[in-house]
Parts: sequence; structure tokens; C-alpha cells
Amino acid sequence: MRFCILLLLIGANFSGAAMAAEPTTTTPIQDDLIKHVDSIREDLVAVNQEIWTFAEVGLEEHRSSARLVGVLKKAGFKVKEGVSGMPTAFIAEYGSGSPVIGILAEYDALPELSQQAIGTRKPAQGRTTGHGCGHCALGTASIGAAVAVKEVYDKHKLKGTIRVYGTPAEETLIGKVYMALDGQFKDLDVCLHWHPGSQNRIWYSSSKAAISAKFTFHGLPSHASGSPEKGRSALDGVELMNIGANYMREHVKESNRIHYVVTNGGGAPNVVPATAQSWYFVRGNTHEDMEAQFEWLTEIAEGAAKMTRTKMQVQVDTDCHEIIPNLPLSKLVLKNFKKVGAPKFDKADLDLARDLQTSIRNDFGLKEPKLLNDTIDELPEEPYQNAGSTEVGDISWHVPTSGMSTACFAAGSPGHSWQNVAAIGSPIGHKGMMVAAKVLALSAVELLQDPQAIKDAKADFEVRMKGRKYTTKVPKDQKAPKTIR
Ligand SMILES: [Zn+2]
Repeated sequence: MRFCILLLLIGANFSGAAMAAEPTTTTPIQDDLIKHVDSIREDLVAVNQEIWTFAEVGLEEHRSSARLVGVLKKAGFKVKEGVSGMPTAFIAEYGSGSPVIGILAEYDALPELSQQAIGTRKPAQGRTTGHGCGHCALGTASIGAAVAVKEVYDKHKLKGTIRVYGTPAEETLIGKVYMALDGQFKDLDVCLHWHPGSQNRIWYSSSKAAISAKFTFHGLPSHASGSPEKGRSALDGVELMNIGANYMREHVKESNRIHYVVTNGGGAPNVVPATAQSWYFVRGNTHEDMEAQFEWLTEIAEGAAKMTRTKMQVQVDTDCHEIIPNLPLSKLVLKNFKKVGAPKFDKADLDLARDLQTSIRNDFGLKEPKLLNDTIDELPEEPYQNAGSTEVGDISWHVPTSGMSTACFAAGSPGHSWQNVAAIGSPIGHKGMMVAAKVLALSAVELLQDPQAIKDAKADFEVRMKGRKYTTKVPKDQKAPKTIR
């Protein structure tokens, strides 16, 4: 009996999605979209490889942003650059009037992740950075989708606007936050996004809210041996704050995360440090949780300043919200994902994935039966919780938002890893990227053509937003930082 109940439960979990299965046949406009994405495959692969090689970190993505903008301009998009005070942010548009459908593009890389597109650890020459989150493909597929939509727009007499948001510095949760604070998503009806992953699945999910802040302590310099009594150590402030934060850890919710690096620990042991700084990320499953944790942390910093007779300054660089999932939109993206199908990998891809998995298997005991995921996951009964943060969340607090991941990395591969840098610069990543471009294009056109789909997404959004108010710890009128490190 127990066995039957279990079976029934499993059935209940997945039968909803199975019953709602849509035919996977395509319409003439969808055929045109898929054909067009295929016809620009070489260009898209070239753009991905260039951005992969540039590997520019957040707010420094000048060449990457320009490369994407170049493609969009050539295709006939109107492009605004330097949006919301960020030189590498842009908004590109085609068409006019409503509805306005947004697609998000990211293109920043990560420090310390230089890697060649091979199955063993070997940094690429001439750079220390790498696309460990696959944002080279993220930006490329998004513009590929937009260009394909533009191609069918006139032929099929579509109405409305397709808009690409070029959003810099996702890794430090900057771009979309400052674009949202600047009102850039106000007239958007629906927003679509994607992310390279190791699974093919819909982002019917939430993420962690996160705040990024720097705590700077100011003391008094003096000879550390000759006249220590006349000095006040800023580094003591940083150390006591960090100790306090680590004691706080025991009493936070399991879903909270607190991590820091010391960005300035003083200059030399024989000078009492006059300035020292810790850079913190505080996260929680809800913005409310995260805010409460951050307030406690700020009190700890104040306490550390008091104990050391130093002064403390907090600078909030960004305040990012958790994703508000959207069911109708997730269903729509899944339906189109099934029409396109999961990426199809060949023997060379599987061989590379096996090599990439080897070190994870050896070091961390990875027990992953697959080399590369080639099936599409059904929607879970309830939204799942992602342990990472993304300012896609900040858009989802303003407009209905959904998207997907396509398999671009070896199965079981950790995020922000050299293995992912290698995969996204290889044919594995190209295949995932092509699928993503097609799914985004099909979904965007369906939304341009179907007012009811937008109504449904908005109705779901209204229900989930009840009782929530978008607040931020970013000081009013604070401009986006010019640099984050
Ligand atoms: Zn990412």
C-alpha cells in the first residue's frame, strides 16, 4: 500500500505536466524562426568565441558589449548605449507599440578562471579571467533570438516591440539592479531570459536575494612598536567584525548565506593600519530575510568600530531581489523548448564531457550517470529554489519573467568552474546556445502574437506580488559604480 501511495505521489507530481503536453509540431512562422537561427549559426558561434576570448569582467565588458551591439545595429535594431550610467549597458529595439517583449543579455566573465577549451586544467595564455558562468553564450543566444524575430517580423506582419537589454556586471549583481532603479523595465510587458546550465530546464524557480556591501574602517596610523598606544587599528575593526559575523552564523536561517573577502588589510605590520575593508555578500531566500540579516551584520560592524575606537562606513554597492516565478510563462517557454528539442550531442562532445567530469569525479566523488543532459525536465509541482542570486530577480519584481537553462556544461559540473569555461568555448556550448536562441525566439513571437498569453502571465504576476513592495538598501540617487573591485 505504501508503495502504491508513493507511486501515486510520483504520478501526481508529473502528471500535470504530462497531461498538458502540447503537440511538438511547428507552425510556418516557427519554421522560419528556427531556419533563421540555423542560417546565422556560424556568426553566432564566432560572436560567442570572441566574447569568450575577451573574457571581460563586469563593468569592463567594452569589447563584448560592442560586439553584440554591432550585430544588432547591422540587423536594423535601434540601439541606445551607455544606459543607466553604465558604459557597457545597452537597450536595442525593433518594431513599435505594444506589446513590448524583453530578452535579457549578459556578457561578463569571472576572475581567476582562465582556461582553454580542453578537457584538462590549462589556463589560456594572456588572460586571468574566464567565462565560468557561460555569459559569452548567454548574450550571443539572446541577440541571435532577437535578430531571428526581426527577420520574421515584417514577413508575418507582426505587431509590437522586441527589445534586448544588454545588462552588464551580472556576476556582481549590478547591471539589472541599476537599470531597474532607473525605470528601464517600466513599459515592458513580459521579460524572457536564459542561462547556460548542465540541465535542460525551465526557470520555474526562485533565487536568493543578495546584498553586496563594503565595510570600511578608519583608524589612526602610528608606529606599531614605538607608539602603539597612539594608534587605532582599522584592521582590528575588520577582524572583530568578521569574528562577530562568524558567531552570528550559528543563529541565521539555514537558507541564509554570508561570505566576505578582506579587500584591504593595511599596508605593513609596523604601521598600525589606518584603513581596512571587508567586502560582504549577504543572501537569503527572500529579500525580507536578507535585509534582516544585513541589519544585524551592520550592527556587528558598528560594535567592532566601538570596540576598536575606529570609525566605520558602509557602502551598499547593490541590493538584488529573489526571482518571482511565473507559471503561465514557464509553461509557454517549456512548450517551445519541446518544439525545439534538447541539444543533440555527438561522440566528440561526450568525450570532452567525460574528460571534464574526471577531475570532479576524482576530487569530489561526483556520481553523475550522464555525461551531458539531452532531455528536457518537466516543470516541478512547485517552484524550486536556486542557491545562487541573479538580478533577473529585480526585473521579475517589475514584470512577469521566465526563462530556461539549456545544457551547455558537463552534467554535474559546478558553476563558476574551469570545466564550464572549457565547455562554453567548445561545440557543447555552441549546441546549447543554438537551442536557447531558438526557444527564446519562438517564445517571444508567441507572446507578440497572443495577447491572452500576456494576460495570463500578468494575472499570475499580480497574485504573486500581492503584499510585496520593492524596496532597496541602495541609497536614493546613487549611481551605478564605475568599477566594483
Ligand atoms: Zn551567470
